[in-house]
Amino acid sequence: MSTTATDCCANPKEKLLSVEQGRERILQAVHTVTATEVLHLTAALGRVLAKPVVSTIDVPPFANSAMDGYAVRSQDCADSVQAELSVTGSSFAGAPFAGAVATGQCVRIMTGAVVPDGADTIIMQEHVERNAERVTFSWKHVVAGQHVRYAGEDTRCGDTVLGSGIKLGAAETGLLASVGVSEVSVSRRLRVAFFSTGDELASIGTPLAAGQIYDSNRYALHGMLAKPAIEYYDLGVIPDQRAAVREAFQQAAEVADLVLTSGGVSVGEADYVTETLGELGEINFWRMAMKPGKPLAFGQLDDAVFFGLPGNPVSTMVTFYLFVLPAIRKMTGETPRDPLLVQARCAVDLKKAPGRMEFQRGILQRGKDGSLSVSTTGMQGSHLLTSMSRANCFIHLPAASAGTQAGEWVTVQPFSDFD
Ligand code: AMP
Ligand code: MG
Repeated sequence: MSTTATDCCANPKEKLLSVEQGRERILQAVHTVTATEVLHLTAALGRVLAKPVVSTIDVPPFANSAMDGYAVRSQDCADSVQAELSVTGSSFAGAPFAGAVATGQCVRIMTGAVVPDGADTIIMQEHVERNAERVTFSWKHVVAGQHVRYAGEDTRCGDTVLGSGIKLGAAETGLLASVGVSEVSVSRRLRVAFFSTGDELASIGTPLAAGQIYDSNRYALHGMLAKPAIEYYDLGVIPDQRAAVREAFQQAAEVADLVLTSGGVSVGEADYVTETLGELGEINFWRMAMKPGKPLAFGQLDDAVFFGLPGNPVSTMVTFYLFVLPAIRKMTGETPRDPLLVQARCAVDLKKAPGRMEFQRGILQRGKDGSLSVSTTGMQGSHLLTSMSRANCFIHLPAASAGTQAGEWVTVQPFSDFD
């Protein structure tokens, strides 16, 4: 057991930790949950593949038509500008033509139907003239092999369809179904326990007493944690008392792989989170070179990873997205990825003092000229949750920046990157 809970605060001039450094340390310290489970495809949506999936079939399994029309033999038509063929049968999706197409013949064919033996090209029905059992059409603009989807064009038998570490979304479950896979091996759900700390916090559904505010962090955390790959435990509000915080920590560490708290990581008199963690586990207390979200506690509580997030509601959300989410992705087995950052022209002046990196709340939109522009949600206090709700992105302002003027380019991270 070691504690560095007070180390970085003893000297206020001590260098702050950059966001990048913080994220690197966190990602080095957390490990992927090793247990896996086998689930039916529909139950696996939103979960992370633990084993690669290899296709045992070609998709499509057979050459088929991309159009409604006629399946013809290109060698019968190649020399003639005006081709005339006799219709010898039909091939419907799910009901193939039984025989083969002989010289001078063609087969009526529908989209998705097997291209019959002998035929190699599809003529769209709009381009033929049909008289009883004969069709005529111009061969002029026809390319041999047109409108045929070949076997294995999408996936070949033996291909790795999806590698481990892929989170299964709608396209992935569709893709797995296309190769006939009904069950997949995924990482077991990550167990995350969270609670709020603070004597001033009232739970929704109860009236506010003097000096109280509603606990909003638990609901924002719930919103960010409500995902198929996560099993979460809401442990409520814990008062600012050593014994209560201690008990909540022990209870959380028993059930969870990851414990999150909000509040109590400042250096106020009633801030017991860092102190308690120092007694019960391994703790690092970091002052991050960022705004909002300067204080952050990170460590280990028995077998669980621990994050003590700052209490101000915007700080809680920002630190969750920047530090906790990458840790969750690694713990659930997701392949790491860099943040999706885009450049946008800033529509307004943004104030900032040099020193810490800022994550201002922005509204990203497409300007009249088609380019991306970003405006501000207004006041940027870390207690203003409306700024998160109005925003659809963070505007990243580097530590050294002394603000930005309207018309300048800024780096923006859309909130969709946190899905
Ligand atoms: P703390 O980090 O505990 O000093 O809290 C910093 C600020 O965040 C204070 O103004 C707290 O009242 C506020 N705060 C702490 N926890 C919550 C919460 N769960 N919901 C809303 N505000 C909170
Ligand atoms: Mg507090």
